[in-house]
Amino acid sequence: MNKIRTRYAPSPTGYLHIGGARTALFCYLFAKHFNGDFIFRLEDTDVERNVVGGEESQLNNLAWLGIIPDESPLKPNPLCGKYRQSEKLDVYHELIDQLIASGHAYKAYENTDELALQHQEQENQGVASFRYDPNWLKISDEEKKRREEAKEYSVRLRLPKNKVYAWNDIVRGEIAVNSDDIGDFVILKSDGYPTYNFAVVVDDHQMQISHVLRGEEHITNTPKQLAIYEAFNWEAPKFGHLTIITNMEGKKLSKRDKTMKQFIEDYKNEGYRPEAIFNFLALLGWTAADASEMMSKDELIQKFDPERLSKSPSKFDIVKMEWFSKQYMKTMDNEVILKAIESPKSSEWNTLFVETYKQQSATINEIKNHLKMYLEPKTNLDLVIDNVDVVKTFYNQLIKKEFTVENIQLAINETKDLLNVKGKNLFMPIRIASTYEEHGPELAKAIFLFGQELVLNRLKQWN
Ligand code: GLU
Repeated sequence: MNKIRTRYAPSPTGYLHIGGARTALFCYLFAKHFNGDFIFRLEDTDVERNVVGGEESQLNNLAWLGIIPDESPLKPNPLCGKYRQSEKLDVYHELIDQLIASGHAYKAYENTDELALQHQEQENQGVASFRYDPNWLKISDEEKKRREEAKEYSVRLRLPKNKVYAWNDIVRGEIAVNSDDIGDFVILKSDGYPTYNFAVVVDDHQMQISHVLRGEEHITNTPKQLAIYEAFNWEAPKFGHLTIITNMEGKKLSKRDKTMKQFIEDYKNEGYRPEAIFNFLALLGWTAADASEMMSKDELIQKFDPERLSKSPSKFDIVKMEWFSKQYMKTMDNEVILKAIESPKSSEWNTLFVETYKQQSATINEIKNHLKMYLEPKTNLDLVIDNVDVVKTFYNQLIKKEFTVENIQLAINETKDLLNVKGKNLFMPIRIASTYEEHGPELAKAIFLFGQELVLNRLKQWN
């Protein structure tokens, strides 16, 4: 069998979106599971939509996630042509000329107005979806010549009549489309740029891509691409179309939806763990045979099975995402967190702080935010204490001891026994009076982190 080769081919129109990242991730897992190559290339012919730094940012965000392509514009395989479409326009032109010469494609001379008129006429006749009619345009030979010389034409693929284009989709099974339902379509635009459908086929062929995994919005493009493969007599790759990702309400994610963080960059900036996002994305439309959820990159590569790609939409469940992040945060190296939060406290204090808060935080930023209340403690209590006796007793037990986490715990236990209170009635007054907060990590640790002097001063007021 030939080597498995997959590719992710974004347009450099912005940051790496969750949807793109998931496509890239599945292509990567697919390739790596079968010891193949994962390729990154760029579809940058829509010049107006390209953004400066788009390529770099896509690559950087993928690298942050741990997805390193085997080939890319920065690491090209010289046998596979250029990895940016904008750099190989001559290649597309030459191949389009070949198709014209072999009769598989032809020039279409309609201008925009004429094409609009043709659309209109079909609409008036009740045609449900437009089919280009190569015999519609009536212009003089002279005018045709003028348009030819001024390069005012596009090139369309000539589709055979009543021909079925079928493929066994990796995700969805058999799909078949009749050429009569497509119509001759544009492969070279009048501005001289190839269309997506044409360029993608040339690239996939030249790069020897064996499996194309992409979003389901491309299903309607696949029969067109199969027609191009056929016109060239090239072997087509296998195709798989991943289902949509929805938001919590079940609607398709839209990049314009500002209520949700949708770009990998957002998660990176907030201090999420890349391993957590990698793991989470892998479960957006795929499950492991043994139903495991927490999986490292290596485990995912080993367990990945394209047969298990889901046919139904996958929900971007932000609660689950947070859960993943928390699990990964717990296993994170203290040193790495400490470096990121830049705490001015002693190393002993810092270690306890990080140990305590990494048990409950989803991101580094969250840990960093918790640091603030220790560095600039509140001076006023804005909460009510409903059992002052608990606070008094706790204080009196605590002052007798050296200030350590163990002894703080001991003082809490003694208070419990002396007053015969437990649960919330015991912890709440102590927590509020000592930390000035209603919530927090394990009580004895939280109290210790505020420091002896501050805590005793706070408690003394109730005596
Ligand atoms: N640039 C296309 C996209 O981002 C790639 C489509 C494909 O993978 O064929 O959707």
